[in-house]
Amino acid sequence: MVECRNLSVRYGGVTALSDLSFQVRRSPERGQFIAILGPSGCGKSTLLNVIAGLLGPTDGQILVNGTPIEGPGRDRGMVFQQYSSFPHLTVLQNILFGMQINRDEIQLDRAGRHERAMGLIQQVGLTGHEGKYPHQLSGGQQQRVAIARTLALEPGIILMDEAFSALDEPTRLEMQELVVDLWYRIKPTIFCVTHSVTEAVYLGERVWIFTRGPGQIAYDITDCIPPSPGISPMVAQERADFRNAAEIVTEAFRRVANGKTSSTRPQNGRAGKKA
Ligand code: ADP
Repeated sequence: MVECRNLSVRYGGVTALSDLSFQVRRSPERGQFIAILGPSGCGKSTLLNVIAGLLGPTDGQILVNGTPIEGPGRDRGMVFQQYSSFPHLTVLQNILFGMQINRDEIQLDRAGRHERAMGLIQQVGLTGHEGKYPHQLSGGQQQRVAIARTLALEPGIILMDEAFSALDEPTRLEMQELVVDLWYRIKPTIFCVTHSVTEAVYLGERVWIFTRGPGQIAYDITDCIPPSPGISPMVAQERADFRNAAEIVTEAFRRVANGKTSSTRPQNGRAGKKA
């Protein structure tokens, strides 16, 4: 479980997050997939950085399974917007790198690490590219490497910060489908910051909409979001339940953008409430 208790983060005079509280519980089957939307500067990246352990709270607490986060850990992996692979290493070497550093903890010998890396290469659709260097890959392929590198350490929590924003539309849709498929098979908890309502509705089973900075969760939308594993984004977006959810999320987002984050609920009353 990830639990945030009255978390505030300040950078000097700027308050990025203020008195934020939530609980994200794993079900016995899998972790939750939370998509986070909010106006620019409302503290979304700050929250991911705090969960990653790259930044500490100014006030309040953030805990994973009851233990305060005290720094980065193998249980939490981050996928950034910028391509983050090592340029001088091949796809396979990039995926092996983190496992080699953590080899004592992951308890796999050389052959086991190689087998896991090759398995991930296959799972993210990079078979045949394992000997290539990042500059020989497209943007989408580089993000597949980043995802495989993150998954290699089998983190229970994955943090994605606008991970597909730099990609063209068809590639972004492919990546969305891949991530939903991986989530469903591997079952981590995912916190995914995005600026796209349709991406949030497709990816998440729970959508948070943050207030303008300093950020708090204005809407925690769960009950209208349709599941999408096994359905491509193009097909999912045509469905009536998807369009309905997208309208509800858009309306909530509009309220936040207009500074209306009171208890008035978005249309049809099936979403809303503070987390
Ligand atoms: P978001 O991801 O929602 O766009 P951020 O978490 O990046 O928001 O930023 C939240 C607020 O904190 C913004 O006002 C931003 O300018 C400020 N901020 C972020 N990082 C720093 C930093 N390293 N130093 C000072 N202010 C920062």
